[in-house]
Amino acid sequence: MLFSGVFDLPWWGLVLVTLGLTHVTIAGVTIYLHRCQAHRALDLHPLPSHFFRFWLWMTTGMVTKEWAAVHRKHHAKCEGAEDPHSPQVYGINRVLWGGVLLYVKEALNKDTIKRYGHGTPDDWMERNIYSRFTLSGIILMGLINVALFGILPGFLILVVQLAWIPFWAAGVINGIGHFWGYRNFECEDASRNIVPWGILIGGEELHNNHHSFASSAKLSNKWYEFDIGWMYIRLLEMAGLATVKKVAPRPRFQGAKAMVDGETLQAVIANRYDVLAKYAKSLKATLADELGKARREAPHDAKALARVRRWLHIDEARLADKQRTQLEAGLARSKPLHTVYTMRQDLAAIWSRSTASREQVLKQLQDWCHRAETSGIRHLEEFSQRLRSYA
Ligand SMILES: [Zn+2]
Ligand SMILES: [Zn+2]
Repeated sequence: MLFSGVFDLPWWGLVLVTLGLTHVTIAGVTIYLHRCQAHRALDLHPLPSHFFRFWLWMTTGMVTKEWAAVHRKHHAKCEGAEDPHSPQVYGINRVLWGGVLLYVKEALNKDTIKRYGHGTPDDWMERNIYSRFTLSGIILMGLINVALFGILPGFLILVVQLAWIPFWAAGVINGIGHFWGYRNFECEDASRNIVPWGILIGGEELHNNHHSFASSAKLSNKWYEFDIGWMYIRLLEMAGLATVKKVAPRPRFQGAKAMVDGETLQAVIANRYDVLAKYAKSLKATLADELGKARREAPHDAKALARVRRWLHIDEARLADKQRTQLEAGLARSKPLHTVYTMRQDLAAIWSRSTASREQVLKQLQDWCHRAETSGIRHLEEFSQRLRSYA
């Protein structure tokens, strides 16, 4: 009786059970490890918190302090040489298929754990069980699986459970999430939203939204996006088992002010990645106009202009020499495009100068709008008017 397990399920029943079990693990990673522990976007009641810790110990063997530390370092050093798992550095295949090895390597780095691992649980269970016997939970899970579903099915379910996070989180999110997909926000790193519906990986699919507002408990942002992790958090909150500490700001607009004031400045800075995403659209539209004009009047220029398309939206510091040469050659053919391109750097620089006073920053933004609106470039003027309407 025991060897065929308590439940004698058909194959599709076993598949459903496996999907259910792995989904609980995904929920534990996104809600507990990621949003609660690494980013402090919400507080969890001891009940779900202890449940997730126990469950993750049984299904992943990962240690909270190590996970939080490696992940915080990823945000702090994103896409640089010290980023533990950037596909921009290591290449997409190495992160997608071997992301778990990069994680394990970084988790062994004592300096990383010391610098970034602060504030994670340090109670009796953590010291004596979870971080000490990292394999015992997995063995326990395997025994439970075998008892419930039989030897072979139980073992296979365990294998899938163990492979789930290394593949979907360490591989797909850390790899594809910094490589392929769409961007709502022009934040400084290469993060992307893989699909708008975050179900399979608990909402982590919306990785560009996450990197733009890392301390937000909610990862969906547009009306057509869905974050199942956020749905669970709201349910926990309604049951009194969670407290949300922060969600991403929503850009709000009112009639454009004649002159940017302190309030507008504050709204623009809070929504800076939205501002830059809209700016990227203006840049794209300017290129399209200039390209159309060049095709009619100067076909030779059009070739050089068409080549800049791929490099226009990438941080200049990240371009290879050849790419930068192509970019410069293209920009040299169109004064309007050159203006819109350089004014993006000027705009981003306004809020990244940490030493400037508030009055200086405000003055710089006002000057920037004045330059934009007297540039004679339609897309730039329209953008500036929209900028003045952030509220
Ligand atoms: Zn990331
Ligand atoms: Zn994160």
